[in-house]
Amino acid sequence: MNNKNFILQQLKWISIYFAISIVISFIIPFPYSIIVIIPVVLFLSFYIRRKEMRKFGGVENFSMFNSNKVNYYCMVCGTKHDNLMCPKCGSKMKRIG
Ligand SMILES: [Zn+2]
Repeated sequence: MNNKNFILQQLKWISIYFAISIVISFIIPFPYSIIVIIPVVLFLSFYIRRKEMRKFGGVENFSMFNSNKVNYYCMVCGTKHDNLMCPKCGSKMKRIG
């Protein structure tokens, strides 16, 4: 997700909050509407953050997985490689090192 998308996402949620606030203030008269709007918005932002965290957490896990990538060494000649077959001797036997 790039920055522009992130901003658009934020704007989308802000307009949703805004719409919810307007709808609630139509249904409920002013001082009480605030009492209803605040927990609703808090709940929504909590819910969204959790959803977003899960998404970002997933991405983070993925990059961590990539950076901590295990190295494979050929069991025959000891060459470090990522391929299915050893580029040096063609052996498919690998060990994790
Ligand atoms: Zn080899």
